[in-house]
Amino acid sequence: MTDTARTDGAASNALLKFGRFFTKWDETDDGRAVFHEGGRQGDVFYRDRWSHDKVVRSTHGVNCTGSCSWKVYVKDGIITWESQQTDYPTTGADRPEYEPRGCPRGAAFSWYTYSPTRVRYPYIRASLLEMYRESKARLGDPVEAFRDVSTDPAKRARYQSGRGKGGLVRVGWEEALEISAASYVNTIKNYGPDRLVSFSPIPAMSQVSHAIGTRFTHLLGGAMTSFYDWYADLPVASPQVFGDQTDVPESGDWWDSTYLMMWGSNVPLTRTPDAHWMAEVRYRGTKVITVAPDYADNVKFADEWMPAQAGTDAALAMSMGHVILKENFVDRQVPFFTDYVKKYTDLSMLVRLEEHPEGHGLTASKFLVASDLPEHASQSDAAFKTVMWDAASGRPVVPKGSMGFRHNAEDEGKWNLNLDGIDPALSVKDVEGAQGVEIALPCFEDPRGAGSIIRRGVPAIEIEGQRYCTVLDLMLAQYGVGREGLPGQWATGHDDVSTPYTPAWQAEITSVPADQCIRIAREFAKNSEESEGRTMIIIGAGICHWYHADATYRAIMSLLMLTGCIGRNGGGWAHYVGQEKCRPMTGWFNMANALDWSRPPRTMIGTGYWYMHTDQWRTDGFSADAITSPLSTGHLDGLHAADAMATANRLGWMPFYPQFNRNPLDLADEAQAAVDRGEAATVQEWVARELKEGRLKSAIEDVDAPENWPRNLILWRSNLFGSSAKGEEYFLKHLLGTHNNVMENGHGAEHRPKDIVWHDEAPKGKLDLLITSDFRMTSSTLLSDIVFPAASWHR
Ligand code: SF4
Repeated sequence: MTDTARTDGAASNALLKFGRFFTKWDETDDGRAVFHEGGRQGDVFYRDRWSHDKVVRSTHGVNCTGSCSWKVYVKDGIITWESQQTDYPTTGADRPEYEPRGCPRGAAFSWYTYSPTRVRYPYIRASLLEMYRESKARLGDPVEAFRDVSTDPAKRARYQSGRGKGGLVRVGWEEALEISAASYVNTIKNYGPDRLVSFSPIPAMSQVSHAIGTRFTHLLGGAMTSFYDWYADLPVASPQVFGDQTDVPESGDWWDSTYLMMWGSNVPLTRTPDAHWMAEVRYRGTKVITVAPDYADNVKFADEWMPAQAGTDAALAMSMGHVILKENFVDRQVPFFTDYVKKYTDLSMLVRLEEHPEGHGLTASKFLVASDLPEHASQSDAAFKTVMWDAASGRPVVPKGSMGFRHNAEDEGKWNLNLDGIDPALSVKDVEGAQGVEIALPCFEDPRGAGSIIRRGVPAIEIEGQRYCTVLDLMLAQYGVGREGLPGQWATGHDDVSTPYTPAWQAEITSVPADQCIRIAREFAKNSEESEGRTMIIIGAGICHWYHADATYRAIMSLLMLTGCIGRNGGGWAHYVGQEKCRPMTGWFNMANALDWSRPPRTMIGTGYWYMHTDQWRTDGFSADAITSPLSTGHLDGLHAADAMATANRLGWMPFYPQFNRNPLDLADEAQAAVDRGEAATVQEWVARELKEGRLKSAIEDVDAPENWPRNLILWRSNLFGSSAKGEEYFLKHLLGTHNNVMENGHGAEHRPKDIVWHDEAPKGKLDLLITSDFRMTSSTLLSDIVFPAASWHR
């Protein structure tokens, strides 16, 4: 073999030969393979980097609902690397597996653990520590020392105005806990335990760490503020429609769908570990549609993109509903849909039509209920039993399953939807004696949000001297689906641009072409009919965090209800939850709310709590009637939202904390003493009398009075100020008393509440102490007086 045959040239050959002077190796005859021994020191770095003593299972307890299982590799107590766990139970041979689950955010988590921003020791505001130590040395008692610092105006201003400006110093656990405990005892003793407040987001993730704080709060008698509604993740439409917080399937059910829409949900980005089912179901032939204002990450997975402008989704959904109703409930009847809506929806329930008190004509009023009918009025809870028209017997009947069957012994066992031979009339149009009448309906097509009135017709029958139609009759009228012989203004066709809820009308608003709206609505209904309800809409924050999200969600959910998809595998709506740990919920609920200690727990809506206590109500120039229907009867006219809150609290519809303008511990002692003196039969009776006679007041009525301020706030697993504190500047000013950018723009000056005491000077710095427990420095820890380190998830 020549040198030229071994290499690609003389120069290369010379270089190789030259190299052998420096390195010894054996080689094959043709020189194509060489054999080295030793010399692997360069690999050591990599071997060390990936070596480990043990593997620990972990996850990331964030509010992402993924709960992905991870293998965390540990060496000498240090996390060296992590990888996705692959031992999930199999789903069987004919479905995709759950694993691998994970996302890039989670894969980077060990970097948090060793980040320079990691909180590893307790920290305290230096000025507070210095003043506390001085007071304690002088007074000898921790509680008296904290009271001394927190009630002296100059000292209070000194540590409050330092919030958010650095100045945290390391402190020992013992002293940090002592000061925290002293402040809690001071509040409980001098103001009342319901002046303690706590916040932590969703318990569905990391239930134990959530429960630890809530139990602490409830054992002390403090108040917990809600979270799901506060950061606008709660799909309010769900309790409105189903009476259930979030009635949705888990993401694995996406794979059962035969027609899948992603509506306002960027699945690969926000539901990364679940996204594969959406991608995999396409291999089954499922058509995937996306509704998104932009060319989002999920759009590239879709077969079709409906580019609705942001905030216009309701118009698109109403118009798809128009097509579905017209073509499947009027032009023809689809037995699958008809059977479904008769059994599982209220479309056949009868609704009274009444003259509007301000002369707008007939409007829809309340459901016809058993108590309205002489032959049924004597039933238990008759006022809560809805009524339908039975086409079989030709009379009104009371079907089982409504609320009135739920809570009395007489109706035990009748909480089901078995129609027992009733044939519900979906419309009263064909009932003998039915007559078409014109009704007034509200419409909110004005982009500024003002409502207008549209006039359309429904068939009506008379029962006990009142006129009634069904929910479907009203729905067809609202959606503008005309039927022969009915009065009112109706769409001339799908191409009618000027009549609300037609495909052509929505195109002007959403930018989705009318033809596409019609075609997708038809495909949606056809698939639902042929697959018996396996049409699904994955719906997400793109809509839920939008103003009036409840109305938009309801318009979208109606498409699914009309076509028999709710409650079916592969069908229905899939909001961005579905991985919550429901099984331990019962035990968790008792433990977290300290129900073994006292009940009910003091919990209230976060939105209302912060609106009042951060004084955002003082600059709220809106009145509650700004969002009412043009057909409303004036209950909210001129009402300030703070008045609405006070009314809801006074009537017992909504708890508010603090509850009274007195320390509840003192109040309980006084009440018991009054009972002992024979002045009242019970504590409750005495408290009710004190309220009635004005000697005791609700705290909300004078929410800015010092005795009604929240005094202690503790945050854990939460960056309240950096994320969910809507109106953060108001928090900084009124709760924390530090620098802020609240603009005194005079809003609200002309519109003040009637039921809330107005103080010309709004309080600044209501909080005596802000504590945060976290594993990293956040906007909230920087504003806090005391910071406690938390163990990170992997630790
Ligand atoms: S989705 Fe990401 S952050 Fe959430 S648990 Fe899975 S890997 Fe962790």
